[in-house]
Amino acid sequence: MKITEKGMLVVISGPSGCGKSTVVSNILARSDNYALSVSLTTREKREKEIDGVHYSFVTREKFLEAIENDELLEYAEYNHNLYGTPIKPVLDMLDEGTNVILEIEMQGARQVIEKLPDTVTILIISPSYRELEERLRSRKTDTEENIRARLEIAKREMKSYENYGYVIINQAGQSDDAALDIINIVESERHRTSRNTTIPEEFFEN
Ligand code: 5GP
Repeated sequence: MKITEKGMLVVISGPSGCGKSTVVSNILARSDNYALSVSLTTREKREKEIDGVHYSFVTREKFLEAIENDELLEYAEYNHNLYGTPIKPVLDMLDEGTNVILEIEMQGARQVIEKLPDTVTILIISPSYRELEERLRSRKTDTEENIRARLEIAKREMKSYENYGYVIINQAGQSDDAALDIINIVESERHRTSRNTTIPEEFFEN
């Protein structure tokens, strides 16, 4: 039986502040089989972010052009900014056998599931709402107004948790566990019967 040779597309969502970026960095540090898709965004660059690494920071005009030219696998408006996944690099990396992680919010995740239904979908959540609030405040990257807006979005988003195949609770300081869980999930998914239909012909001969 042939085990899938193409890479797996892995959507990771979770409310702002749940620690998903740390978990994703942990996965990338552990395994060369994974790459992170770099999204386009119209959001302002944060101090420590690098253009082309964390995001490609673009104007709204450029973003709309990318939509117009069908260059995005999915896109969504989040807290007054646009975010989207350029499709070509994702498909190229999958063809090369690399597992591609999309760290995206839920509207975008829904579009990906619709277009590519065999995507592995994972929701990361924090152990409590309170902890989420504390983490958002402690990272000091957002204004109070922004934090409030992100918490409201988190409450709204959590109602759609059933759209995801897997849920992971990211305990504080345990990003190793969450990263290993995700790697194990993806490895198991690779072996699903539905992804491996190439059984040697001899088995069907009388
Ligand atoms: P942040 O501003 O905190 O970097 O991201 C805000 C939200 O947008 C997060 O939930 C993040 O996962 C999501 N996001 C980042 N890139 C994309 C993307 O390409 N598409 C979508 N739909 N969401 C994204």
